[in-house]
Amino acid sequence: PVRVRFAPSPTGPLHIGGVRTALFNYLFAKKHNGVFYLRVEDTDQTRFVPGAEAYIMEALEWLGIAPDETVGKNEKFGPYRQSDRKEIYKQYADQLIENGWAYYAFDTAEKLDELRKTAEANKETFIYNHSVRETLDNSLTVSREQVEKRIANGDAYVVRFKTPVNETLHLHDIIRGDIKFETNLLDDKVLFKSDGMPTYHLANIVDDHLMQTSHVIRGEEWLPSMPLHVLLYKAFGWGAPEFAHLPLILKPIGNGKLSKRDGDKMGFPVFPLEWKTEEGTSMGYRENGFFPEAVVNFLALLGWNDGTEQEIFSLEELVQKFDLARVNKSGAKFDPEKNKWFNHQYLQKQSDEKLADLFQKVLIEKEISTSLDVKRIVSLNKERANFVNDLWDLTDYFFVAPISYDEKASKNWKEETPDLMRQLITVLEGISDFTSATIETEVKDWLTANEIGMGKVMQPFRLSLVGKMMGPHLFDIVEIIGKQETIKRIEKAIQ
Ligand code: GLU
Repeated sequence: PVRVRFAPSPTGPLHIGGVRTALFNYLFAKKHNGVFYLRVEDTDQTRFVPGAEAYIMEALEWLGIAPDETVGKNEKFGPYRQSDRKEIYKQYADQLIENGWAYYAFDTAEKLDELRKTAEANKETFIYNHSVRETLDNSLTVSREQVEKRIANGDAYVVRFKTPVNETLHLHDIIRGDIKFETNLLDDKVLFKSDGMPTYHLANIVDDHLMQTSHVIRGEEWLPSMPLHVLLYKAFGWGAPEFAHLPLILKPIGNGKLSKRDGDKMGFPVFPLEWKTEEGTSMGYRENGFFPEAVVNFLALLGWNDGTEQEIFSLEELVQKFDLARVNKSGAKFDPEKNKWFNHQYLQKQSDEKLADLFQKVLIEKEISTSLDVKRIVSLNKERANFVNDLWDLTDYFFVAPISYDEKASKNWKEETPDLMRQLITVLEGISDFTSATIETEVKDWLTANEIGMGKVMQPFRLSLVGKMMGPHLFDIVEIIGKQETIKRIEKAIQ
């Protein structure tokens, strides 16, 4: 059975790359009627950020891709927070020491630093591996009694993985295919520390095993860890899950990985929800008016497509069509403009009721209370909006009469205009069925009967009501704001 996980470290808000990883895991699980679970990987106490875990949960809820199992929810193989599993890991570190796959190392930070510096001076990188480990301060060079004495003494130690020598690993990644790794290039990673905490590598493998993970789907930045992870499964005598490493998400302009700073600099969000710290606020998709469905849709296309030109996919459709075999190896360019386009598409899909409800909130913020038909106003104007907030700029004149008239358009304002507008008022006053179509017929009949050019009246008419030469069909505006207000605005304009 398919069981996949999202395993974030709560070190800050969830970056868009993390959200994409969560989404691909979610889609893969649902597609195969499997389980999507979330495990909190918080063994590195120094990087712990309060609030980050709650943020991650809230973000996934908002996007509609909440895990089936996580902290406080169906903890079938729980606990799902690694700091609550502390007791579990030591026995596994011990097991690897017992069977010769790991060893104690007592080297001080100063000693390791010195080794690093010496290597650097020789233009080399220091690797703690088979080439040096037999000469350093560890249980490969120190007698067993001494090791036991030092540990009992409370000396600080780490447990290191004893990487096999001279082996070529043949690995397989669902997205990248076959990959070869030379074990000689790996260093003996730390698995466990004397403070009782495992490192990411040990905790991750132990938990993926205990929680019966079938596939590990994660970002490309973890690909270099794959050989160690596969070796760890072997060392424990466990079957390994399948691996799929997702492509990087690249900056919209230039090269390299998309970063938080790109968003700050260029004014677009890279986080699902707003994140506030003393240093400032990072923008969030939610607070910036994105529909969660739009975010899910554009994230799904960061590195995946269904092989057709289709771009708009509902979550259900994504579940149906998602396939790891169609995920690209190469990086996916992040395109903030395209994100807005997606939101535009999703805004058009909303019902007018829903949009009117959302827009009412904006109106309340602007302290506008209105008896106008907001639903109709939204319906007539939405096609030019990317976000609900855009509706205000597109429709403010419905609610607040113009106080100025666009300069350029005022050139349509001639000597004869006030007189024509007065005649127009008389025509409007005489209309009893004050609906768009009737008003249009009556006004046009009057123009034809008196041989008055359309532009001479229609342009100043629009300018009087809107203040600028924009907006939907003029007679719809007239109907919506009503006879009294229409006449009032014309009178004000010709004063
Ligand atoms: N805790 C790791 C992270 O922060 C998980 C990596 C993995 O999925 O193995 O991304």
